[in-house]
Amino acid sequence: MDAIYIPQLTKAPERTEEIQVKEFLPGLETLTPVRGRVRVQHHGNYLEVSGQAEAIITCTCNRCLQQYNHRLTVDTKEIIWLDETANQTNDLPLEREVAMEDLVETLLPDGYFYPTEWLYEQMCLELPQRQLCDLNCPGILTSDTESSDQPVDNRWASLEAIKKQLPG
Ligand SMILES: [Zn+2]
Repeated sequence: MDAIYIPQLTKAPERTEEIQVKEFLPGLETLTPVRGRVRVQHHGNYLEVSGQAEAIITCTCNRCLQQYNHRLTVDTKEIIWLDETANQTNDLPLEREVAMEDLVETLLPDGYFYPTEWLYEQMCLELPQRQLCDLNCPGILTSDTESSDQPVDNRWASLEAIKKQLPG
């Protein structure tokens, strides 16, 4: 996805750009391309960004350690403020500092919006923190009935890579 030059948006029909997504996102390990759309609308002093997307990822069950596929879906909307002082933290008046705490994200009015990075962040936020192959997963079975299916394979490595990219 190409970066969007924010001033250009004001000249677009309805000040809106909609991007169809069907690609693998850099840094996000998915079995299928991320499919969906990102919509960016310019509202003067802020951008309204919404996105719907989905992809299949491979998870490892926290209880039984077997791998399973999970459908990762995003359906979200975010306000991004346009502020001349975005990315500047020095010499702000006090009132400004208080206000800044409420702002989730700001961009320069004459800067760029990066839909790929934005969607990547949204997908990461949806990664399941607790991964269970089944709500009733009994954990690692000690009986010999189900012991030898689904051998662990080298996708472990890529899963570890995903975990390292999780924020916090
Ligand atoms: Zn399990």
